[in-house]
Amino acid sequence: MAAVEPAIVHPDWCDQGICTATPAAPNGEAHRSEPATVALTGGAIDVRAHLYQAHAAWPTAVLVKLELSGLIGPNWQLVNGTTTITPGEVTDLAEMLTGLAASGRAGHARGANRSTEPTGRQAGVAR
Ligand SMILES: [Zn+2]
Repeated sequence: MAAVEPAIVHPDWCDQGICTATPAAPNGEAHRSEPATVALTGGAIDVRAHLYQAHAAWPTAVLVKLELSGLIGPNWQLVNGTTTITPGEVTDLAEMLTGLAASGRAGHARGANRSTEPTGRQAGVAR
């Protein structure tokens, strides 16, 4: 009689279309949420994020996987980077960026007669 594989319990946020936690791979794979993407600098850079949780027979932490890719700099160099961070680090990053954005907006308001507000586009960006 064949052994019965334990059922996989997917978190509510797991997109089972991209999840790799299967009975055939009980450890070492992961639950994944549908990725969210933000396009920066007029679409030259994409930042993607999704929830990630290693699948194991023991409890594992829910993390956030960040992926950055695109073209940057005056010579349009290809950049790629990936990291996995904790939800607390996501909060730290969001607070830092929110603070920088507030300072940038305040600086823009003080220098309203100058063109200091980033436009979100860089010259030469092809769409
Ligand atoms: Zn899953």
